[in-house]
Amino acid sequence: MGAQQEKKPSEERKHKSPQNNTQTSQVQWGRAWEVDWFSLASVLFLLMFAPLIVYYFIMSCDQYQCSLMNPLIDLLTGNKHLSDIWNKTPMPTYRAAGIYALWVTFQVVLYICLPDFCHKFLPGYVGGVQEGAVTPAGIVNKYEINGLQAWIFTHVLWFANAYYFHYFSPTIIFDNWIPLMWCANILGYAVSTFAMIKGFFFPTNPKDCKFTGNFFYDYMMGIEFNPRIGKWFDFKLFFNGRPGIVAWTLINLSYAAKQQELYGQVTNSMILVNVLQGIYVLDFFWNEAWYLKTIDICHDHFGWYLGWGDCVWLPYLYTLQGLYLVYHPVQLGTANAIGILILGFIGYYIFRMTNHQKDLFRRTNGNCKIWGKKPEYIECSYMSVEGTKYYSKLMTSGFWGWARHFNYTGDLMGSLAYCLACGFEHILPYFYIVYMTILLTHRCIRDEHRCLSKYGKDWKRYTAAVPYRLLPGVF
Ligand code: NDP
Repeated sequence: MGAQQEKKPSEERKHKSPQNNTQTSQVQWGRAWEVDWFSLASVLFLLMFAPLIVYYFIMSCDQYQCSLMNPLIDLLTGNKHLSDIWNKTPMPTYRAAGIYALWVTFQVVLYICLPDFCHKFLPGYVGGVQEGAVTPAGIVNKYEINGLQAWIFTHVLWFANAYYFHYFSPTIIFDNWIPLMWCANILGYAVSTFAMIKGFFFPTNPKDCKFTGNFFYDYMMGIEFNPRIGKWFDFKLFFNGRPGIVAWTLINLSYAAKQQELYGQVTNSMILVNVLQGIYVLDFFWNEAWYLKTIDICHDHFGWYLGWGDCVWLPYLYTLQGLYLVYHPVQLGTANAIGILILGFIGYYIFRMTNHQKDLFRRTNGNCKIWGKKPEYIECSYMSVEGTKYYSKLMTSGFWGWARHFNYTGDLMGSLAYCLACGFEHILPYFYIVYMTILLTHRCIRDEHRCLSKYGKDWKRYTAAVPYRLLPGVF
């Protein structure tokens, strides 16, 4: 797990063989250049409704004990008006604004002012300055990988406060949850709007900008590939990882503290959610260097989808299970708790091993062992924008021979485990598995579309060799 060794320069770049080939058929990979009506309709839908969806879920917990149906019933029967619900909604407060500003500033300071120290003493951990993947313009960005350090530092301070200093209550996040949501929205919109303006007027790498000509699509999916301020402040790495993902485990801890305060105990379901999601978050930071090669960082541009999504959608909707358990403290039977734990561990194992197999394969250029054997693969090539030809390989053995995205399958199993920990009384905690299924299925299709335009006929050979996406024999 997470056995990332010392980074070598990308193998793909070693095989770089410049050619003055001006073919354009293979060079327009990366995010779309043209917007079809379905993408535009989806973008407009999300821009209009995603903030409302977040509000609806959080309000349902605050005012309706996490029932998603009762607000609708109240509104449809005329029992309540929208204004009644709105008037009961906590508004932004100076206290929440102060907490949020301090929180984001603290994460910025940890990100840019504290070069990574963890890789110097943690065996197997890759931190410090690392290279990202080759961008469509042929640029290789450098990143300071210090997320694990930021996570540890933040959590040590959290526990020191909870058990020793008592400057603030560990329930502080839960107690200010809706006022904090308004602050997160302000940051999410501000950063997305800034990224759009920056893309037009002062992009970091103009060759890696994409303009579709459609304002809404560009706002949502981003113009700049890797917007930066200065040499090191990378928007995508910062907003993807912190403040959202560092906050994830703190939010869950705050929910556990609230359960303790309200009921005098923390239920085993809350512990399960904290442990399983904690492993997922820790895995993310342990493998932050690997994360540079995932779709979010090496294919997506930075727009509202990532900017607002990381500030609002992720911390508010990925933590619904813990929030639900504050209102409905579920104590699971031992057999159920063990079953859920096993499902979570198996899902995590598949998720991590599948990702690890691809990472190992790519880092060693196929000179490794997967399940004790030399990996099988398909040789492929692609072009960068300036016409340089690169060579790469697509693995067809290990978990990557079972399905083209078995890492997503493991992720979905883990996601289901978090939801099951909440029992079956309400559908709200199951939002996560429904959302992840849609997200990862859509991601499969989006990624494969991109890979087809990147690798052309080589990708078709690959899909013929590995015909299923998520579940062998089914899909
Ligand atoms: P992948 O790690 O599956 O990366 C896909 C890329 O890998 C492709 O674009 C291609 O890139 C390369 N690739 C595809 N097939 C092969 C192959 N057979 N051999 C070698 N390389 C291959 O996708 P993601 O970046 O989306 O996901 C990373 C992890 O993050 C997943 O486990 C996912 O579950 C998780 N995730 C979690 C989310 C959450 O919100 N919790 C959201 C999104 C992801 P190239 O161009 O380099 O060939």
